[in-house]
Amino acid sequence: MLDLVVRGGKLVTPAGVQQADLGVLDGQISQIAEEITESARQEVLATGRYVFPGLVDVHVHFNEPGQAHWEGIETGSAAFAAGGGTVFFDMPLNSLPCTLDAPSFDQKLSALRALSCTDFALWGGLTPKNLEHLSELAERGVIGFKAFMCNSGLPEFPACDDATLYEGMRLAAEWGLPVAVHAESEILTAHLTRKMRAKGVSWREYVASRPVFTELEAIQRALLLAQETGCKLHIVHISSGAGVALAAEARARGVDVSLETCPHYLAFTEDDLEWLGATGKCAPPLRSASEQDRLWAEVWAGSVDIIGSDHSPAPPEMKQNPDFFALWGGIAGVQSTLAVMLSQGWQRRGLALEHIAALLALNPAKRFGLKRKGQLAVGFEADFALVNLSQSHTLAPQDLHYRHRLSPYLGQTFLGVVESTWLRGEPIFKEGKIVRPSEVRLQTRNL
Ligand code: ZN
Repeated sequence: MLDLVVRGGKLVTPAGVQQADLGVLDGQISQIAEEITESARQEVLATGRYVFPGLVDVHVHFNEPGQAHWEGIETGSAAFAAGGGTVFFDMPLNSLPCTLDAPSFDQKLSALRALSCTDFALWGGLTPKNLEHLSELAERGVIGFKAFMCNSGLPEFPACDDATLYEGMRLAAEWGLPVAVHAESEILTAHLTRKMRAKGVSWREYVASRPVFTELEAIQRALLLAQETGCKLHIVHISSGAGVALAAEARARGVDVSLETCPHYLAFTEDDLEWLGATGKCAPPLRSASEQDRLWAEVWAGSVDIIGSDHSPAPPEMKQNPDFFALWGGIAGVQSTLAVMLSQGWQRRGLALEHIAALLALNPAKRFGLKRKGQLAVGFEADFALVNLSQSHTLAPQDLHYRHRLSPYLGQTFLGVVESTWLRGEPIFKEGKIVRPSEVRLQTRNL
């Protein structure tokens, strides 16, 4: 007797789309077959629906403990589940405290256990002030360490100088853990910020203060340090095709690097900031249309490994400032990742559905050592989303599960509707509502 059978869906597997029944027992996928004859406690008819592996988003900021008024775990994970997500990796900032040592890890873990409706992992911070605490974080089970190569905007999370990054990478390499970098040059962006501010404070000067070459300089330096230390490097939110090309070239030479970009770099260009305003501010900034085309070409070619949302909201009042440099940046998008990729990737550019599933689930699970997540295959955890690709939806404020109903994607029409999301064979989102699962689990490497 199975716990669940999903009948007649189109399963998006690593080998391609396959129409089959999917059987679940004890939270795991126990069978995939053209027709499962065994009976089950629960049956779901998925005729005409696509079954995607649950999304693994390696890059979110839910800001709890301490700053739940920015987003919070309950609303953030709900939005993620509504978008087909089942595992997120929470960044070590902008919670208070930041995740920089064992007590702050423990505090965040208990908040996540109490409030999340999906599985999760924790990033630990790597900063000049917590090198001596990295080992505690590794023992606690962080998925990796996150470092900023430029100012993070938060005094409690200072940028890594090269020496700190080098020492942190050496330690992480010893423990087999990845180091993720926000790759923008502090020296160059600080200099250009001063220079551009003297001219004006609109989005145009802001974008001009962080040009593509300032990203390339930091990527190059991080690659060199990773090569030298043997550390697994993960470059978050690469905004440019040139940045991807640079890192992909190093990967071809044997540097152990994975490349992440975000839906907003694929969905918007810098010119959209004219109407998006503050909701479209991020760092690195949105790029020109030609740079975006190059980024899409790199996605197409398979050079990008992972698409993470970098969901990073803030209270609306922090986004109201005529000075584009001074207003708080960060894109609210964790609910829309799959929607963007289905509309912009599959429908518009013909990206295969299994390629999208690889970017959003398979590759992140593999890269970060989640051995039973990220794909629809026997023996893997039964994390999946049922998606109706014959419908579309226009994103309205009432659809958003975020604490603040703000997002650059509001008002846009997307192909596909996520009808339900399942974690270990239990529904966590259906009929527009969140259902708390019986258990959520901390994900660590090789689990
Ligand atoms: Zn981020």
